[in-house]
Amino acid sequence: MSSLYPLTNLAEGFIHVVLDIENLYQLASLSFEDFSMANESTFYNPSTGQYIGFDKIAVSEPIYPFLAPHIDMIAPNPIPAGTGDILTITGNQFGNFDPLTCTQCRVRFPNGDQTAGQDWVYAFGKDIVTWTDTEITLKVPSATEGGVNKPAMSGKIRVERPGNGGNVETSNQVDIHIPYSVLNNRTSSAHLSSIFRLALWRQTADGIRYEYDEDVPVNLRNIFKNSVDLWCARTNIAWNIAANDIVISTENGSDGINSVVMMPGSTFSSQAALAAVVITGHFTQCGGGGNFTFYLNDVDMKVNEDAYDPFEANWQQKWSNAMLHELGHAHLLNHSKNPSIPSAEEYLMIADQGPFGSVFMPIQDDDATGANTVFASSAVLLGIAGCEGIDPIIPHPTGNCGGIDAVGEEVVNASILSVSPSPFLGHALNLEFYSKNQGEFDVTIFNQFGEIFYREKGLQVASGENSIQLTNVEIDVSGIYFISLSNGVIILTSKIIKL
Ligand SMILES: [Zn+2]
Repeated sequence: MSSLYPLTNLAEGFIHVVLDIENLYQLASLSFEDFSMANESTFYNPSTGQYIGFDKIAVSEPIYPFLAPHIDMIAPNPIPAGTGDILTITGNQFGNFDPLTCTQCRVRFPNGDQTAGQDWVYAFGKDIVTWTDTEITLKVPSATEGGVNKPAMSGKIRVERPGNGGNVETSNQVDIHIPYSVLNNRTSSAHLSSIFRLALWRQTADGIRYEYDEDVPVNLRNIFKNSVDLWCARTNIAWNIAANDIVISTENGSDGINSVVMMPGSTFSSQAALAAVVITGHFTQCGGGGNFTFYLNDVDMKVNEDAYDPFEANWQQKWSNAMLHELGHAHLLNHSKNPSIPSAEEYLMIADQGPFGSVFMPIQDDDATGANTVFASSAVLLGIAGCEGIDPIIPHPTGNCGGIDAVGEEVVNASILSVSPSPFLGHALNLEFYSKNQGEFDVTIFNQFGEIFYREKGLQVASGENSIQLTNVEIDVSGIYFISLSNGVIILTSKIIKL
């Protein structure tokens, strides 16, 4: 073939071809429709030594662009998933398609919920805004049909479109960085419905309040409260814990109560799961005219009572990680993973966080940015017509998330009574605390990123009230820190401020 002139890349595939006669038979996808014509052209068939006339050739099947699609550039990069931000892919040989009818036209991302062999998640249908031969614009996906999972995460993406012979043609792969993913919801199948963005609303005058079931162990309450405080230190979203227990026998999606409840391992999708935030289906719709917001009316923290073992080594870090991760979901973050962080296991919102042993997994900047993005967008999403009276969440007072120490008097084994001076200026701190029993405690001071600034192990404490002087607390940067006391069973945490 000497030259080939695609007149259009449309799926109909009309092309104008100039062919060297001796190569004609090598074009498998072309065939002569009519050998009887002689008035337009002829070709020489060397096998018979005859000239045959013809006027047209027919395409035996649709011809798509002959070269594989190629991505030159994507922008912006990084880009979050689920926020509706538009990713633009520029390149060539994408073809010209209607993305609502072309089911093979899609952009493939790594699946942030990589379980059961589902390695990929796709943007197609209404995820695609425009699709031309040289440019595709799309929303990075963060929801599957009827649910809130399957977020795109950082890694390699590629373009896929129909190819010849019913095949799918794939492009080169390029790196994309998705720092965080926001939970989304899609209400109908096949990606032909829009993705609805989800919002948090002001459930109580103080923000969003958790209630403990009476069966939640005191040590777990301390960890949960600490996790709430750590999140509050990084976001504008006010979470708090009710002072009094309620009796909840099971997490209940429709009771309007945000619960922390112990549940048998058999109620978890994985027996090994430590905890789960249950929010799927816990959204109420407001809005109208095709413009809807779904706001979270109920969030339940299920704790796997079969997996909870406060005598296990490193259980504090393990459960702190679990609570921070699940509270990430409660802030409407989806799973995500940032490969630029050397140890992926230290990333808070990965799908399978697994046992982290002694590693404390802090809230990453991207996690906090994601949660604050939800905070900022919630007011906008609840401001649409039809959502009147549904108040968006309000920022918590600076330095006070409204957390209430819900440890009742009758179950107190130990508690921090005071840390002084507060705020502190020098390198010494006085710690007053109560322990029911004598024993050894470790003292740790760390910042909101989990970086440790002070550690003293095996501190002897007496039964009753103890007064302990900590010297050489080498903290030079002013800000919010946390002091933690633990004996392997109990973990106590208090916030301190360095001037
Ligand atoms: Zn998770």
